[in-house]
Amino acid sequence: FAGLGTKGLPAIKEEMVAKSVELLHLQFVDLEGILKHVTVTAEQLDDVVDGKIMFDGSSIKGFSPINKSDLYLKPDLNSFTVLPWTEEEGYSEARFICSVKNPDGTDFEGDPRNVLKRTVERAEEKGYAINVGPELEFFLFETDETGRPTEQTQDFAGYFEPSPHDNGEKVRLEIYKTLKKMGFTIEASHHEVARGQHEINFKYADVLTTADNAITYKWVVKTVAKKFGLHATFMPKPIAGENGNGMHTNISLFDIKKGENAFFDEKDENELSETAYQFIAGLLTNVKSFAAVTNPLVNSYKRLVPGYEAPCYIAWSSSNRSALIRIPAMRGPGTRVEIRCPDPSANPYLAFAIVASAGLDGVEKELKAPDAFDEDIFSMTAEELFLKEIDNLPTSLEFAVMEFEKGEIGRKTFGEHVFSEYVGAKKEELDSFRTTVHGWEMEEYHTKF
Ligand code: GLU
Ligand code: MG
Ligand code: MG
Repeated sequence: FAGLGTKGLPAIKEEMVAKSVELLHLQFVDLEGILKHVTVTAEQLDDVVDGKIMFDGSSIKGFSPINKSDLYLKPDLNSFTVLPWTEEEGYSEARFICSVKNPDGTDFEGDPRNVLKRTVERAEEKGYAINVGPELEFFLFETDETGRPTEQTQDFAGYFEPSPHDNGEKVRLEIYKTLKKMGFTIEASHHEVARGQHEINFKYADVLTTADNAITYKWVVKTVAKKFGLHATFMPKPIAGENGNGMHTNISLFDIKKGENAFFDEKDENELSETAYQFIAGLLTNVKSFAAVTNPLVNSYKRLVPGYEAPCYIAWSSSNRSALIRIPAMRGPGTRVEIRCPDPSANPYLAFAIVASAGLDGVEKELKAPDAFDEDIFSMTAEELFLKEIDNLPTSLEFAVMEFEKGEIGRKTFGEHVFSEYVGAKKEELDSFRTTVHGWEMEEYHTKF
């Protein structure tokens, strides 16, 4: 698999000497997928590798209560990488992505990365490896003289537009070079539909590596943008009336024993296996209950409206981009399902875990997929949708959180700790939004009433 590398300790030590690594950042994410790290000196490498670096979990969103706050970081050696933007003559910094451990050495159940690891194990027990390739879109905004983000996009270009005078292309090039140095395989890069919107695609890998890659990618995009005096955002819908940011998630199961893609069956009319149909059925059945995770913000639901290439109806299609699930044309080892609702504000560990878990649920229960839907759903009337029994994705975070709480997939995938922390955090966010008076209300009501 294409990961960030499979480095043993000797190779890591060699690279640290060659590149004069002085500082090591030990990274993990909080409940919302926000990157955190603590920095130690290179001399502490042995302690780092032994998982001896401790931190205070009570200050991390969604982690542990104050009376049980000592947690430890156990680095994943595969995630070691020197940070290209820190490199200078005789100095550089590197990072490890870590799993969070309890003082007794067991996995801390509040760590989102551990949630995903549990889902990987569940799939392995069934004989499958999970492969994922996400497409994370982002916007570049100008900043003001104090460096704060403005609402002015960096360019006014459109889809696939080559822009010779455009800083955006230079930023993308620099992101590409940085990620490549860090071990990524970059497949494509382009200007997206909205002004100021971009996408850079990296190669799929096993789901844990991919979630690590996704948080690294977001970090690199933001870091490089800042070097150009720009602000990069993965907010789902930064501009009303323009396309939002998606994180289309391409996912497939790999049959470990047979050594082949479990979604491909050349004898089927769509060349999809029974397992693929069951997986699709699992996604369709559970999507309302997992939307609060793949689309975690109040703002996420402003993206899921008709007309902006983002899905709003629960259907699958072998081609059509208006559907929630699309099957990209590739068959054979590349056979996969593309689920289009996730957005890049989601915590990638939790989002990939719950999407995989929902699909596996379909396989375990041998659910039957409805017929594929190849018409343009956006052009259908409410009546047609009703007659064809096509349901809507949740239209607000509030509905999504209600469905999440009610459904079984959240608790089953996350475990009690993360599940209840997640529900609590989302309810707090909803309350804060609900009790705030927004600009729109002042504009609409202030003078009229
Ligand atoms: N930006 C669109 C979205 O919100 C996706 C565009 C595309 O097909 O890449 O999902
Ligand atoms: Mg795109
Ligand atoms: Mg796509």
